[in-house]
Amino acid sequence: MTSTTAGSCLCGAVKFRISGKFESFFLCHCKRCQKDTGSAHAANLFSSTATIDWVSGLDSIQTYRVPETRHEKSFCRNCGSALPSVQLEGALVVVPAGSIDSEIDTRPSAHICFASRADWYSCLESIPKVEGLPV
Ligand SMILES: [Zn+2]
Ligand SMILES: [Zn+2]
Repeated sequence: MTSTTAGSCLCGAVKFRISGKFESFFLCHCKRCQKDTGSAHAANLFSSTATIDWVSGLDSIQTYRVPETRHEKSFCRNCGSALPSVQLEGALVVVPAGSIDSEIDTRPSAHICFASRADWYSCLESIPKVEGLPV
């Protein structure tokens, strides 16, 4: 049985479908992921067997790789949203969790590179949770 996951970017130019299962879901706190996302950590799902079908916007996708590293990110050149990419010469499909529009039935497997976490990433469970925008 295969599952299909749909996703898109913020401006809607890029739409994709992914067929297959994810093996892991990591929250990466490395310094590159902090720069890449502008946030505390990346949140990516990984699969060695899934395939990506680009429904639209293939020509809007740009990929950047940090020189001499494996750190790579694909994004929409119109809106900058993070998008899936196929890495390690086709061996690994990497999907930013936030780009997915379908329900995500897996849960994060682990925080990784946690030793590099942002100074402010601490005691987050105890801060107020506001359901909408702050007043
Ligand atoms: Zn876009
Ligand atoms: Zn990272």
